[in-house]
Amino acid sequence: ATPQLRYQRVVLKLSGESLADSGGRGISSQEMSDIAEQIRQAHSSGCQIAIVIGGGNILRGAQFSGSNALVQEATAHYMGMLATVINSLAMQDALETLGLSTRVMSAVPMDKIAETFIRRRAIRHLTKGRVIILAAGIGNPFVTTDTAAAQRALEIDADVVLKATRVDGVYSDDPEKNPHAVLYDRLTYQQVNEKQLRVMDATAIALCQEHAKPILVFNFKKSGSIVRAINGETVGTWIGS
Ligand code: UDP
Repeated sequence: ATPQLRYQRVVLKLSGESLADSGGRGISSQEMSDIAEQIRQAHSSGCQIAIVIGGGNILRGAQFSGSNALVQEATAHYMGMLATVINSLAMQDALETLGLSTRVMSAVPMDKIAETFIRRRAIRHLTKGRVIILAAGIGNPFVTTDTAAAQRALEIDADVVLKATRVDGVYSDDPEKNPHAVLYDRLTYQQVNEKQLRVMDATAIALCQEHAKPILVFNFKKSGSIVRAINGETVGTWIGS
């Protein structure tokens, strides 16, 4: 029997680093096609998928913070947004190679490259079975694509924000440094704030908390985990009210 589809519409947040070889920069064809294949499988179960991709494999604006920097921080954030566009275009081709129909929608208009994000149009694409790839974050500097994922999830009324990471979920401490770090199954937004857990940036958590939008943090490196997350199977850490 086909497992019951728990989520009908999701925002999948992929960091830029997830597209690079581990610890690396740039775009790895292998990583890219692995992720694309997972998305294809998840989509074939009937879920509507909006992908928000980061740009950290290329550039993050905060790298240029500090008054001595040659590039002003605000400028650098725009450079970071462009990095997400580069990743989004690569993901589009990777998905279309697998037969999916997709649209890249950019928060910053660039009509030779992508559609501009228009909420009602985005929803229309989803209901027609297209995977949408949301580029350029929210189009404003000084935030990250985590905030964009939360913001778009609210706008398109996604059931959940799926935050794909390299570790199994949210831990009490950095599991790559502290072997005694404990993995949480479930957390409230309040616990995330009180324990100062690094899940997503604070603006993203605040938006989700205010509008009771659940977040599922899970390990995309485990094969099939995106499909399992969408089917509501127990993976990672669930954050809600
Ligand atoms: N960015 C921005 N506004 C947005 C989204 C992203 O200014 O709405 C910039 C910001 O500098 C950020 C960079 O783009 O650091 C790349 O995105 P992010 O750091 O979220 O990438 P990830 O860590 O997910 O790879």
